[in-house]
Amino acid sequence: MKYYITNAIKYANDEPHLGHGYEEIISDTIARFYKQRGCDVLLLTGLDEHSTNVFKKAKEKNLDTIKYCDQMEDVFKKVWKSLDINYDIFIRTTSDAHKKAVQEIYKRIKANGDIYEGTYKGNYCDSCEAYKEQSEIADGKCGIHKVSVRFIEETNLFFRLSNYKEQILILIQSGKFKIRPDYRKNEIVSFLKGGLKDLSITRLKAPWGIDVPDHKDQKFYIWFDALINYLTGIGFPDNLEQFSKYWPCDLHVIGQDISRFHCIIWPAMLLSAGIELPSSVLIHGFVLAHGEKLSKTTGNILKPDYICPKFGIDAVRYFLLRESPIGGDIDFSEGKLSERYKRDLANDLGNLVQRTVSMAQRYFQGRVENSTWDRFLADHVDSIKSILPTYFSNFQLSDAVSKIWEVIRLANTYVEQRAPWQQAKEGKLKELNETLFSLLETIKWVSYLTYPFIPNTSVKILSFLGINTLIPIENELKTNEYSIKTSELLFPKLDK
Ligand SMILES: [Zn+2]
Repeated sequence: MKYYITNAIKYANDEPHLGHGYEEIISDTIARFYKQRGCDVLLLTGLDEHSTNVFKKAKEKNLDTIKYCDQMEDVFKKVWKSLDINYDIFIRTTSDAHKKAVQEIYKRIKANGDIYEGTYKGNYCDSCEAYKEQSEIADGKCGIHKVSVRFIEETNLFFRLSNYKEQILILIQSGKFKIRPDYRKNEIVSFLKGGLKDLSITRLKAPWGIDVPDHKDQKFYIWFDALINYLTGIGFPDNLEQFSKYWPCDLHVIGQDISRFHCIIWPAMLLSAGIELPSSVLIHGFVLAHGEKLSKTTGNILKPDYICPKFGIDAVRYFLLRESPIGGDIDFSEGKLSERYKRDLANDLGNLVQRTVSMAQRYFQGRVENSTWDRFLADHVDSIKSILPTYFSNFQLSDAVSKIWEVIRLANTYVEQRAPWQQAKEGKLKELNETLFSLLETIKWVSYLTYPFIPNTSVKILSFLGINTLIPIENELKTNEYSIKTSELLFPKLDK
């Protein structure tokens, strides 16, 4: 089985913050889940470089635009590394391959009769890189960015978006093109029912962008350009063998502010170009601090290089994935993060691992023989193993991780009930071995199951248990004998 999953490529004019990171973490978790099960997974991320804001920013810095984007590529890659994002493809829209893909899609859409010349008149938000309807503007400012919109009147090329309203509605309502969560799907459906206007897909005499082949004075509109990256990333149009292996895309993960581009304009472009639609679009909410997106007032909290060293990457990943079902906004604060850190990570998981490992060392010099795995714990692990694929196909990552934590808590209760220290005191070595074996077997499975969410911690725990491979999860058998290696504290006390 193949699984092709994409993030929205990010504008290259600013450093990424945790809101961008959240999207990458969602995709990375889903990708790791399928990779762990032996799927041929491709995870795409990258940079959207033809934005007017990128051009302006490079100018401010007195840099050639491409040079500036080269620097930003390093910045983004460093941040993704700091969040343990294991992407397979990093695309840049200024690459020759991408320019070629954009021009090819344009040719196909044009050949299909969906391009015409017209005059655009209206208001434009430079931060959104989009035209704004009157209902989206308040006091002359974009409702999302609170910056002034510009009035534009120019001759452009238009795409007959309005032709595709019915087809897209049918594809959404039949479930062939899935939009999650459902309330986002309903928003798109009602927007579609209100009717679609044709879309201007070029800019007259723009200084920066991809050339329109038959109109030398025009460049492609950034969204027409950017959406096509999902095709370029897997080889369109030159490597059609690879392209047809991974397309249609299984999942686009995007933010709520760009849902119309992905759920209306993008499928219309594909329909016109004669290319299959992606299977699903998953729309996530924003990460907020003090009720706001990253801004001067929210300060450092949403900066990965501030928060990750303080709490560890896995704590940040865990918090974002656990705190809210995908779709809702996440209210991020150090207080809430440290609560989760202390309770779920240090107390539940860290404590379970630490005491099991140290008892195995104390009572058996680290060697715990094969025994009966406590039925109650084993059944719980089994039920999680069987429900997890459903949770992942419904993108219920928060439910999945809560479910795994149930078994962690049960294992801690099991320790209290079996009181292995008492068994040791009474010299009941067979029972003691059984207790520790049951705990180790449970911990091993907890590590496998938590791997997509908190990969660092998972690999560390497995290494304490003497296991160095993350083989496809279905093949893992009962361990014959545990040989515990040295361990370290997983979740140290937080500094004040
Ligand atoms: Zn805006």
